[in-house]
Amino acid sequence: MDDFRFGDRLFFVKRDDLTDPRYSGNKFRKLTSLLTTPPNRYSTIVSYGGTQSNAMLSIAFLAQAKGWDFHYYCKTIPAWLKAEPIGNLKVALDLGMRVHELSPSDFYERVETLRKISGGDALFVPQGGADPIAESGVKILAEEILAWCEEKGVEQLTVATPSGTGTTAYYLRKYLPRRITVVTTPVVGDEATLLNQWKRLEPDATCYPEILNATGKWPFAKPKLEYYAIWKRLKEAGIEFDLIYAPKMWLEILEANETLISPILYVHSGGVSGNTSQLENYRYRGLLDG
Ligand SMILES: *Cc1c(COP(=O)(O)O)cnc(C)c1O
Repeated sequence: MDDFRFGDRLFFVKRDDLTDPRYSGNKFRKLTSLLTTPPNRYSTIVSYGGTQSNAMLSIAFLAQAKGWDFHYYCKTIPAWLKAEPIGNLKVALDLGMRVHELSPSDFYERVETLRKISGGDALFVPQGGADPIAESGVKILAEEILAWCEEKGVEQLTVATPSGTGTTAYYLRKYLPRRITVVTTPVVGDEATLLNQWKRLEPDATCYPEILNATGKWPFAKPKLEYYAIWKRLKEAGIEFDLIYAPKMWLEILEANETLISPILYVHSGGVSGNTSQLENYRYRGLLDG
């Protein structure tokens, strides 16, 4: 846990980005149960999602460590990227991941078929690791946060973490006591998207994280000057975060600053390995100063 002075407030940052160089932050948590699965339990992992996904990269490391084949499905890959893969895609391919392109028009039908034919020794992992498989690993993260509270004598606390699938925020809420507030922000879609994900994860859920969304909806991973600006300020303050999820969460925290219960603990979920390709995106769109 790091002390982190940002703006005029003191934060704590749970450095989940430093847990293991292979498994990006919360992806390590989501894959914890598979990391301890005997290699002979599966022969193949099947998953799908974006070409620079942090979950994809973490599964590629897992599959390599276990000797499992890893088949990853994505929508049509741009020709330039196929010719010269960069970022997470390059690393994952070097680890032996087999990538398959599906046409965007019936992508989700095709993925659903893949899910149905998986089973036995072929494990299907939904996009971003949004699966009950993730529960036991995120529960351990909650226990570590509680142990820290006890050690420091902290009674009340706000835990903040941005949501893609919302899996991390949801299971944190589930395993932290109610005196601890869990806040998140949807980086994919909006509040309704996030609520749907949570219901899919656990249909009978009764307690959800608090959603902050003052800055509104923004297309996933699309460069935005305000995101880059706060990312740079955070970096100058001493911690490099990811460029996709963290900027929005931090903007929301600053926006809600007055109303959030102190102290605020930010869970750094890694993703820094994706920054080179995302910075390329910013540069390509002419949004960078240097
Ligand atoms: C994957 C990821 C998230 C989103 O986690 P979910 O459990 O899908 O909500 C947030 N931040 C970073 C850095 C990530 O890599």
